Amino acid sequence: MLTIRLIGHEHFYPLCDVARLFTGVIPRVDGDTIRVDVPSEAVIESRLSEGKALTSVVEGFPELVGELRAVRKQEDLPSSRECKRQLYVLLSRAYGKEFPWGALTGIRPTQVAREVDRAEDLMRIYGVREDKAKLAFATMRGEDDVLADSDPESLHVYIGIPFCPTRCAYCSFVAQEAPRKTKLLPSYAEAVLRELDLVLPKIRKPIETLYIGGGTPTVLDDELFTEFIRGVFSHPEFSSLREVTVEAGRPDTITEKKLAALREAGVTRICINPQTLSDATLLRVGRKHTAEDFLRKFELARSMGFSVINTDLIAGLPGESAEEFCDSLSQLIGLGPENITVHSLSKKRRADLSREEVLREQEEELGKMEQMLSFSSRVLSEAGYAPYYLYKQKDTLGGHENVGYQKDGTSCIYNVAMMSDQRSVLSFGAGGMSKRVFLQEESHQVRIERCPCIKDAIQYIENVEKMAEKKVLFFQTEGK
Ligand code: SF4
Repeated sequence: MLTIRLIGHEHFYPLCDVARLFTGVIPRVDGDTIRVDVPSEAVIESRLSEGKALTSVVEGFPELVGELRAVRKQEDLPSSRECKRQLYVLLSRAYGKEFPWGALTGIRPTQVAREVDRAEDLMRIYGVREDKAKLAFATMRGEDDVLADSDPESLHVYIGIPFCPTRCAYCSFVAQEAPRKTKLLPSYAEAVLRELDLVLPKIRKPIETLYIGGGTPTVLDDELFTEFIRGVFSHPEFSSLREVTVEAGRPDTITEKKLAALREAGVTRICINPQTLSDATLLRVGRKHTAEDFLRKFELARSMGFSVINTDLIAGLPGESAEEFCDSLSQLIGLGPENITVHSLSKKRRADLSREEVLREQEEELGKMEQMLSFSSRVLSEAGYAPYYLYKQKDTLGGHENVGYQKDGTSCIYNVAMMSDQRSVLSFGAGGMSKRVFLQEESHQVRIERCPCIKDAIQYIENVEKMAEKKVLFFQTEGK
């Protein structure tokens, strides 16, 4: 058992993140103690006293005998970040491991890049590897270019359709399989339109972008989709948007009629996501389409005038080799989509493997992931793509990142607004999270207030008036 005692502070979550990164085990919080169920016995103290942090080994970790067994405060950081950084340094010595993003867990790397002067500072303070530190800075510059042209007071609207034709094996999203919920789709679409009717006229801020995402919005059938899109764009608040993006993620849901409905509404930016161009992998992960289906729908969208197409790929799909991933990416680049987003997959732990086997498997997977991601950043840069938004998910193997690349200045403003946490977002639909961002003058810090919406689609339909009322109030009141 690894035990971490917190003295003088309650920064449980940041420390749990770090403990999980090194051990692969979900920690338990028990009073003022974090317990991690690993075979070796060790006790660490994370102490905060008069603003000074000190992290030290009380018991165990014989590897550290003769080495420094305590990490003193060295950096002028917020206390939660300093406690996390110290624990990272200590566990890194104890386990003889380092991770590409170092102590940057549970925080946006571009946000931290804004606080320091140079990539070297990310490496020195947080133990970030050189290539990742440079990636954080390059992405921050891409984000800043987009933000410089965006009104800080503006709102960015998200409409969520949390249904998909089938569930992909790797999905961690709340999406529901549409075939089982077919009867629900018309009432869901109607509820979203009702919510728009109730909320939009009462919002006083300018709306800059609209993003219709999911799930898979194109899961609605031709007639319902067309009706829904017409309903959405009948709102005068959406008549002078700078950008509209619609996810048509699963190629098996795309039809000419749906694309025509989008073009009729003036939409020119969509996402068509193959995730891989290996048919064997697509079959394995339960996506009911082939690489050929993707290629046909991509060409159809191009021929109908969609001038910005985003395509997503996932590194680390089950059973996929680094060669297959690299081959998919090379084929995609050949097609010339304006945006390519490369995701890193988080791996679920197999129940039939021992902890040692899991760790061994993770080491192998990590090596493969490294190969895929470094190939991505090299060939995308050679092909003229630049990173413009980046985020990390908690359970991604090795704490790797998801990166959006763009070429020829086609960054998606909504993605930057959303992922950089620098702009407010008004969400419609079940499970949507609205947020108000308060930028702090002079510093790069932001304060965020959030307003969640019911996740369950049936409950959402039944409570749409209440949800609308809550949202209007949220955006009308002064921030605390
Ligand atoms: S398309 Fe996306 S949201 Fe839908 S099941 Fe697959 S991974 Fe989940």
